[in-house]
Amino acid sequence: MTAEDASTPTTRAVSNQSSTVHGAQQDIAIIGGGICGLTTAVALEQRGVSPTVYEAAAEYRPVGAGILLQTNAMLVFDRLGVAGRIREAGVPLQRGGLRAPDGAFMTRFELDAIERSEFGYGAVAIHRADLQRILLTALEADVRTGMDCVDVSNTDSPVVHFDDGTRRRPDILVGADGIHSTVRKSVAPGVEPRPLDAVAYRALVTLDLPDPYRTQGFEVWGDGTYTGGAPVDEDRFYWFATAPESLTDGPMAPDTVEAALREYLADYPEPIPALLDALDATDVIESELEDLPPLDTWSRGRVVLAGDAAHAMLPFAGQGAAQAIEDGLTLADAIAATDDSDAAFEAYESERKPRANRVRRESHRLGRLGTLQSGLGCRLRNAVISAMPDAVFRHLRRRQAAGTSLPEGEPGGV
Ligand SMILES: Cc1cc2nc3c(=O)[nH]c(=O)nc-3n(C[C@H](O)[C@H](O)[C@H](O)COP(=O)(O)OP(=O)(O)OC[C@H]3O[C@@H](n4cnc5c(N)ncnc54)[C@H](O)[C@@H]3O)c2cc1C
Repeated sequence: MTAEDASTPTTRAVSNQSSTVHGAQQDIAIIGGGICGLTTAVALEQRGVSPTVYEAAAEYRPVGAGILLQTNAMLVFDRLGVAGRIREAGVPLQRGGLRAPDGAFMTRFELDAIERSEFGYGAVAIHRADLQRILLTALEADVRTGMDCVDVSNTDSPVVHFDDGTRRRPDILVGADGIHSTVRKSVAPGVEPRPLDAVAYRALVTLDLPDPYRTQGFEVWGDGTYTGGAPVDEDRFYWFATAPESLTDGPMAPDTVEAALREYLADYPEPIPALLDALDATDVIESELEDLPPLDTWSRGRVVLAGDAAHAMLPFAGQGAAQAIEDGLTLADAIAATDDSDAAFEAYESERKPRANRVRRESHRLGRLGTLQSGLGCRLRNAVISAMPDAVFRHLRRRQAAGTSLPEGEPGGV
């Protein structure tokens, strides 16, 4: 059985795909051509609907760090027929685990033996640019770059305003424009991201990986810092670390960020020293960590939100993109099933909102724990994690995968 054929016995159904494609005549504009926007577009096309994607960036460039696609994301990509390509381009992880600052594993996840045997997929680590390329290749839709949406008016009959003065009047407008969404202002005005008072550093590091790290990811839960990563191909490792505030004053210069990271992570176990030795500091991305409070509604009139625009979460559960990917398929399925956008958005939101909000809350709790600054608090936290039976973590991972929002019964399309 290939990965694309894998059965998904415990996944939850959203709806029955109608044999008539209702939304096909509708003009659908997607603002934002990130992971969510592209996934939504692929899923719509496979249901006979041709959306147009408007992306603010002038072009797609092969930059950015890595990303971990957990089992639930892979189950959606399986439905979209691209999971095999993603596994080939990235690294299916055999194992993962949480480690203490001395390097000892507090718990391990057997991703290959357990998740893959039950769900057909485990987690895959991949370069973000490779994921983007695979989604763009799967798409025939018009993806218009350099289209920065600056305003949306009249949500009942939406008018999209772009910074070059262009206007569009689609039948349905999907806001997949990320945590700082412009579209969200028309659906949930006044909602702003909440800072965690922590920053993340990320980079792809090219090195000859020590053997276990060619197929396994890890996280080290240290005193005030959370660091780790996973391999994205044979000789590149996606590395990340958090700090309570920026480690450098003012704009990041490569030599100052490198020195600051070395000092900050000086006592961390292998492979962190090897990663820092191989790090090209010009590739390091620094991001403020923030999430969104829960929104009362994800849609207004004929405008609907998806992905980070609807439920941006902290990265500690490694689920932000996975939830955005689940949104994409569920929303496309709901739009294609009816001409009634109110009914489509209601079906989408009732399936997706409780799950995404639960994961967002869990990620927030993990974020607070992962960025604890008190030394005593960190040691207590790690003692509790070490004492927890592996079965608890297995149960949580299983629940995440088993609850994936998946429409019933339709084949993959690519
Ligand atoms: C440090 C860190 C690590 C993470 N690691 C993981 C992980 O391992 N696994 C995981 O599942 N998730 C992870 N995430 C979360 C994940 O990156 C996001 O949840 C995911 O990228 C959301 O996808 P999106 O398409 O909704 O938004 P985005 O990725 O933000 O994409 C939005 C797109 O819209 C475009 N856009 C923005 N504004 C406009 C506009 N006005 N007009 C037109 N276009 C616009 C942007 O250019 C962009 O292309 C991580 C996040 C962080 C910060």
